[in-house]
Amino acid sequence: MAANVDSPRRSSLFGLFKKSKKERSQSVAPTDDDTGRKMLGNRSPRRSLQLPGKDNYVIEHRSTNLSSLSGHSGLRTMQSPEQYKTDSQTEPGESIVARFTERTWQQVYAYLSDADLAAISFSCKAFHSRLGTEPFQKLADPDNLAQRYDFLQRLDKTLPGHLLCFDCHRYHKRIAPGEEKLVPINVQSPVYDCPEVGNPNKINPRIRITFDRIMPLTFVQMAMRAHRFGAPYGITMDTISRRYKDKVDDSTWSHQTKFAVVKGHLLMRVMSSCYAPPGLPPAGERHLLYSRQNFIPFFSVCPHWQDGVLMPNVKCALRHIPKPLEGSGLNRVARETKLHFNPEKPIVSLCHNCKPMRRCPECPSEYLIEIRMTEDKADPTKLFKQTLVVTRWSDLGDGSSPFTPEWEALNGKPGFDSVEALGKRAVAGQFEAEFNGDVIPSQNMLSMNPEKMKLGEKGHDWY
Ligand SMILES: [Zn+2]
Ligand SMILES: [Zn+2]
Ligand SMILES: [Zn+2]
Repeated sequence: MAANVDSPRRSSLFGLFKKSKKERSQSVAPTDDDTGRKMLGNRSPRRSLQLPGKDNYVIEHRSTNLSSLSGHSGLRTMQSPEQYKTDSQTEPGESIVARFTERTWQQVYAYLSDADLAAISFSCKAFHSRLGTEPFQKLADPDNLAQRYDFLQRLDKTLPGHLLCFDCHRYHKRIAPGEEKLVPINVQSPVYDCPEVGNPNKINPRIRITFDRIMPLTFVQMAMRAHRFGAPYGITMDTISRRYKDKVDDSTWSHQTKFAVVKGHLLMRVMSSCYAPPGLPPAGERHLLYSRQNFIPFFSVCPHWQDGVLMPNVKCALRHIPKPLEGSGLNRVARETKLHFNPEKPIVSLCHNCKPMRRCPECPSEYLIEIRMTEDKADPTKLFKQTLVVTRWSDLGDGSSPFTPEWEALNGKPGFDSVEALGKRAVAGQFEAEFNGDVIPSQNMLSMNPEKMKLGEKGHDWY
């Protein structure tokens, strides 16, 4: 290849496109003369639109050339912003901004939001001297909170050691970056020192996971930041996943939480299970399912669990567990004989009510109820037991604020239509596909509240 560089054929090509060569040597960035010439030696002509001065770069309509065939992009010749910064020959920003009249800029500003104006004023000295602090004063207005968050969130990438607090509307320094732990609700482990901690009038955004476990928005923020910008900005998915047993009442439930980012949203799966004895009376079912402190199920539920068929379906599933033999005498012997020749299958099949997955119509939560045969090593008298497993999948939103539709719906704010928002895109399917595409739950997805009746505590036979 090197031998061909000075070949007569190539020099004649240069002659042919002498004009465009000159154009191109102007169009590449000023400090990049060398690279520009090297490129010229290898490339066929192109038409370029040239912008003068500091932002001198090429917008090109390239004809067939070697680099496009080899997969190398001409964009590589552009300088990175850092290179521009250190270029001493660039024009001062003031003179570039001054190329448009103040009246023109005012017309441009008219199209921008308060957050955009603050961002422009923050971007460089030239704009800051024109716009001043007025955009920031507007953002300080308590009625302009949405715009203030809009602006502050743009600083996220520049503040790995801080986290935006939605109670104070400002960034706080993280106490132990990267060491943050998701702990039970009664354990103190603040992510940052916030003066509003303990203020009952503040939102302290979080959602309930199970009995004494919560998911604070700070952890959603950190998980999403680590995903977007890198580990120093937050925490990894593995550090927030948990496996724990309830330590309240006489709960026998154990839980597994797992998280994944799919399409810019943090998805959560909470798999809760407990051994389920057969033939429980209604009081026994309640004892198994509900905490006696607050009458909320031990497994993970969204705020709309009382409406619809979730609880009746869980009880329905429990009733499918085969009962042990009862009675005595000849009847019992007959049943035992029957059972001997037709043993019960260890896999309990559920009915058309309790088998399908259910989606809450008012928030991005989905549920699956299963009865599984599991091994209980702690009980030598009965090693294999039927276990009730209730799995909840939820979309926690993008973690940008406590005002995302998903987060608000999970906190019980009305107005979210999960059928419209999620459509055929099941949260469960997306989550499972992230780990193992082969085990996507195959059940039908039905509404958790098909009649959309909202009776709360009074209705739906939940207790
Ligand atoms: Zn704060
Ligand atoms: Zn059933
Ligand atoms: Zn819900």
